[in-house]
Amino acid sequence: VSSLLTRCRTFKVLVIGDSGVGKTCLTHRLCAGQFPDRVEATIGVDFRERLLDIDGEKIKLQLWDTAGQERFRKSMVQHYYRNAHAVLFVYDVTCPASFRGLISWIEECRQNSLGQEIPRFLVGNKSDLRDPSRTEGQVSQEQATRFAKVHGMMFFETSAKNPPLKRVNGQRGDMEVSYQR
Ligand code: GDP
Ligand code: MG
Repeated sequence: VSSLLTRCRTFKVLVIGDSGVGKTCLTHRLCAGQFPDRVEATIGVDFRERLLDIDGEKIKLQLWDTAGQERFRKSMVQHYYRNAHAVLFVYDVTCPASFRGLISWIEECRQNSLGQEIPRFLVGNKSDLRDPSRTEGQVSQEQATRFAKVHGMMFFETSAKNPPLKRVNGQRGDMEVSYQR
Protein backbone atom coordinates (compact mmCIF):
# COMPACT_ATOMS: atom_id res chain seq x y z
CA VAL A 1 0.00 0.00 0.00
CA SER A 2 2.71 2.48 0.90
CA SER A 3 4.38 2.09 -2.47
CA LEU A 4 1.07 2.86 -4.11
CA LEU A 5 0.76 6.00 -2.03
CA THR A 6 4.19 7.30 -2.90
CA ARG A 7 4.12 6.41 -6.57
CA CYS A 8 3.95 9.49 -8.69
CA ARG A 9 2.01 9.43 -11.91
CA THR A 10 2.79 12.01 -14.53
CA PHE A 11 0.11 13.58 -16.66
CA LYS A 12 1.28 15.31 -19.78
CA VAL A 13 -1.08 18.09 -20.76
CA LEU A 14 -0.60 20.15 -23.91
CA VAL A 15 -1.61 23.81 -23.94
CA ILE A 16 -2.45 24.91 -27.46
CA GLY A 17 -3.90 27.96 -29.16
CA ASP A 18 -3.13 31.20 -30.98
CA SER A 19 -0.40 33.51 -29.83
CA GLY A 20 -1.52 35.99 -27.16
CA VAL A 21 -4.46 34.03 -25.74
CA GLY A 22 -2.64 33.53 -22.43
CA LYS A 23 -1.19 30.01 -22.62
CA THR A 24 2.02 30.98 -20.84
CA CYS A 25 0.19 32.97 -18.17
CA LEU A 26 -2.19 30.08 -17.56
CA THR A 27 0.55 27.52 -17.15
CA HIS A 28 2.45 29.92 -14.95
CA ARG A 29 -0.59 30.51 -12.78
CA LEU A 30 -1.32 26.83 -12.48
CA CYS A 31 2.24 25.82 -11.68
CA ALA A 32 3.79 28.82 -9.93
CA GLY A 33 0.56 29.93 -8.28
CA GLN A 34 0.50 33.45 -9.62
CA PHE A 35 -0.15 35.62 -12.62
CA PRO A 36 3.31 36.53 -13.94
CA ASP A 37 4.36 40.19 -13.89
CA ARG A 38 5.57 39.83 -17.41
CA VAL A 39 6.13 36.95 -19.78
CA GLU A 40 8.47 36.59 -22.68
CA ALA A 41 7.05 35.32 -25.93
CA THR A 42 7.35 31.57 -25.86
CA ILE A 43 9.96 30.07 -28.14
CA GLY A 44 9.44 26.49 -29.12
CA VAL A 45 8.09 24.70 -26.11
CA ASP A 46 8.40 25.24 -22.40
CA PHE A 47 7.13 23.03 -19.74
CA ARG A 48 6.18 23.54 -16.17
CA GLU A 49 5.19 21.04 -13.55
CA ARG A 50 3.04 20.98 -10.52
CA LEU A 51 2.73 18.26 -7.93
CA LEU A 52 -0.76 17.50 -6.81
CA ASP A 53 -1.96 15.28 -4.02
CA ILE A 54 -5.25 13.71 -4.95
CA ASP A 55 -6.73 11.34 -2.38
CA GLY A 56 -3.26 10.48 -1.15
CA GLU A 57 -1.92 9.84 -4.62
CA LYS A 58 0.88 12.04 -5.88
CA ILE A 59 0.21 13.31 -9.34
CA LYS A 60 2.67 15.25 -11.41
CA LEU A 61 0.89 17.62 -13.75
CA GLN A 62 3.21 18.49 -16.59
CA LEU A 63 1.97 21.40 -18.68
CA TRP A 64 3.52 21.79 -22.10
CA ASP A 65 3.29 25.39 -23.16
CA THR A 66 3.82 25.98 -26.84
CA ALA A 67 4.46 28.65 -29.36
CA GLY A 68 3.05 28.75 -32.85
CA GLN A 69 6.26 29.19 -34.80
CA GLU A 70 6.06 27.33 -38.03
CA ARG A 71 9.66 26.10 -37.91
CA PHE A 72 9.24 24.61 -34.49
CA ARG A 73 5.94 22.99 -35.27
CA LYS A 74 7.08 21.11 -38.34
CA SER A 75 9.94 19.39 -36.58
CA MET A 76 8.50 18.94 -33.12
CA VAL A 77 4.84 18.49 -33.50
CA GLN A 78 4.63 14.71 -33.55
CA HIS A 79 6.92 14.35 -30.59
CA TYR A 80 4.82 16.82 -28.78
CA TYR A 81 1.55 14.92 -29.14
CA ARG A 82 3.08 11.58 -28.27
CA ASN A 83 1.76 10.17 -25.00
CA ALA A 84 -0.24 13.26 -24.21
CA HIS A 85 -2.94 12.67 -21.61
CA ALA A 86 -4.98 15.75 -22.40
CA VAL A 87 -5.02 18.81 -24.62
CA LEU A 88 -6.22 22.26 -23.62
CA PHE A 89 -7.38 24.31 -26.60
CA VAL A 90 -7.15 27.89 -25.41
CA TYR A 91 -8.76 31.00 -26.92
CA ASP A 92 -9.25 34.54 -25.64
CA VAL A 93 -12.93 35.30 -24.89
CA THR A 94 -12.38 38.87 -26.11
CA CYS A 95 -10.83 37.76 -29.39
CA PRO A 96 -13.20 35.90 -31.73
CA ALA A 97 -10.35 35.34 -34.20
CA SER A 98 -8.56 33.22 -31.62
CA PHE A 99 -11.74 31.16 -31.25
CA ARG A 100 -12.03 30.65 -35.01
CA GLY A 101 -8.32 29.81 -35.05
CA LEU A 102 -8.96 26.71 -32.96
CA ILE A 103 -10.21 24.80 -35.98
CA SER A 104 -6.70 24.49 -37.38
CA TRP A 105 -5.25 23.52 -33.97
CA ILE A 106 -7.88 20.81 -33.64
CA GLU A 107 -6.98 19.56 -37.10
CA GLU A 108 -3.28 19.49 -36.20
CA CYS A 109 -4.10 17.52 -33.07
CA ARG A 110 -6.20 15.08 -35.04
CA GLN A 111 -3.45 14.48 -37.58
CA ASN A 112 -0.77 13.95 -34.97
CA SER A 113 -2.60 11.83 -32.45
CA LEU A 114 -3.93 9.13 -34.72
CA GLY A 115 -4.89 6.07 -32.77
CA GLN A 116 -4.89 7.90 -29.44
CA GLU A 117 -8.09 9.12 -27.83
CA ILE A 118 -6.80 12.23 -26.08
CA PRO A 119 -9.31 13.98 -23.81
CA ARG A 120 -9.69 17.54 -25.05
CA PHE A 121 -10.76 20.67 -23.24
CA LEU A 122 -11.94 24.00 -24.59
CA VAL A 123 -10.61 26.86 -22.46
CA GLY A 124 -11.89 30.42 -22.87
CA ASN A 125 -9.27 32.54 -21.12
CA LYS A 126 -9.29 36.22 -20.02
CA SER A 127 -12.81 35.94 -18.62
CA ASP A 128 -11.91 38.93 -16.40
CA LEU A 129 -11.98 41.12 -19.53
CA ARG A 130 -15.48 40.10 -20.58
CA ASP A 131 -17.78 43.08 -20.85
CA PRO A 132 -21.36 41.96 -20.09
CA SER A 133 -22.80 45.12 -21.67
CA ARG A 134 -21.72 44.13 -25.16
CA THR A 135 -21.75 41.00 -27.24
CA GLU A 136 -19.78 42.11 -30.28
CA GLY A 137 -16.12 41.27 -30.30
CA GLN A 138 -16.51 38.59 -27.66
CA VAL A 139 -17.05 34.86 -27.69
CA SER A 140 -20.23 33.98 -25.80
CA GLN A 141 -20.48 31.02 -23.47
CA GLU A 142 -23.35 29.69 -25.58
CA GLN A 143 -21.20 29.74 -28.70
CA ALA A 144 -18.37 27.99 -26.90
CA THR A 145 -20.70 25.42 -25.33
CA ARG A 146 -22.05 24.51 -28.79
CA PHE A 147 -18.54 24.28 -30.21
CA ALA A 148 -17.40 22.07 -27.34
CA LYS A 149 -20.35 19.75 -27.88
CA VAL A 150 -19.66 19.42 -31.60
CA HIS A 151 -16.01 18.62 -30.96
CA GLY A 152 -16.55 16.38 -27.95
CA MET A 153 -14.77 18.59 -25.45
CA MET A 154 -15.33 19.85 -21.93
CA PHE A 155 -15.64 23.63 -21.77
CA PHE A 156 -14.19 25.94 -19.14
CA GLU A 157 -13.79 29.69 -18.88
CA THR A 158 -10.73 30.83 -16.97
CA SER A 159 -8.78 33.88 -16.04
CA ALA A 160 -5.10 33.54 -15.44
CA LYS A 161 -5.23 37.00 -13.86
CA ASN A 162 -8.32 37.37 -11.68
CA PRO A 163 -9.58 36.74 -9.10
CA PRO A 164 -6.37 37.16 -7.14
CA LEU A 165 -5.23 34.02 -5.42
CA LYS A 166 -6.65 33.16 -2.06
CA ARG A 167 -4.38 31.48 0.40
CA VAL A 168 -5.98 28.58 2.18
CA ASN A 169 -4.21 27.34 5.31
CA GLY A 170 -0.98 28.87 4.11
CA GLN A 171 -1.11 26.99 0.82
CA ARG A 172 -1.52 28.67 -2.49
CA GLY A 173 -5.06 28.49 -3.80
CA ASP A 174 -6.07 27.06 -7.08
CA MET A 175 -7.26 29.07 -9.98
CA GLU A 176 -10.99 29.45 -10.06
CA VAL A 177 -12.66 28.18 -13.15
CA SER A 178 -16.24 28.05 -14.21
CA TYR A 179 -17.24 25.27 -16.49
CA GLN A 180 -20.14 23.76 -18.28
CA ARG A 181 -20.50 20.30 -19.62
P1 GDP B 1 0.50 33.17 -25.13
O1 GDP B 1 1.10 33.76 -26.36
O2 GDP B 1 -0.75 32.39 -25.45
O3 GDP B 1 1.47 32.38 -24.30
O4 GDP B 1 -0.02 34.40 -24.23
P2 GDP B 1 0.69 35.04 -22.95
O5 GDP B 1 0.55 34.16 -21.76
O6 GDP B 1 2.04 35.49 -23.33
O7 GDP B 1 -0.27 36.31 -22.68
C1 GDP B 1 -0.49 37.29 -23.68
C2 GDP B 1 -0.98 38.58 -23.02
O8 GDP B 1 -2.27 38.38 -22.43
C3 GDP B 1 -0.08 39.08 -21.88
O9 GDP B 1 -0.01 40.48 -21.99
C4 GDP B 1 -0.81 38.68 -20.61
O10 GDP B 1 -0.55 39.58 -19.57
C5 GDP B 1 -2.27 38.73 -21.04
N1 GDP B 1 -3.11 37.74 -20.33
C6 GDP B 1 -2.93 36.41 -20.27
N2 GDP B 1 -3.92 35.81 -19.57
C7 GDP B 1 -4.75 36.80 -19.16
C8 GDP B 1 -5.97 36.82 -18.39
O11 GDP B 1 -6.53 35.80 -17.94
N3 GDP B 1 -6.55 38.04 -18.21
C9 GDP B 1 -5.99 39.20 -18.69
N4 GDP B 1 -6.64 40.35 -18.43
N5 GDP B 1 -4.86 39.21 -19.42
C10 GDP B 1 -4.24 38.04 -19.65
MG1 MG C 1 3.46 31.87 -24.69
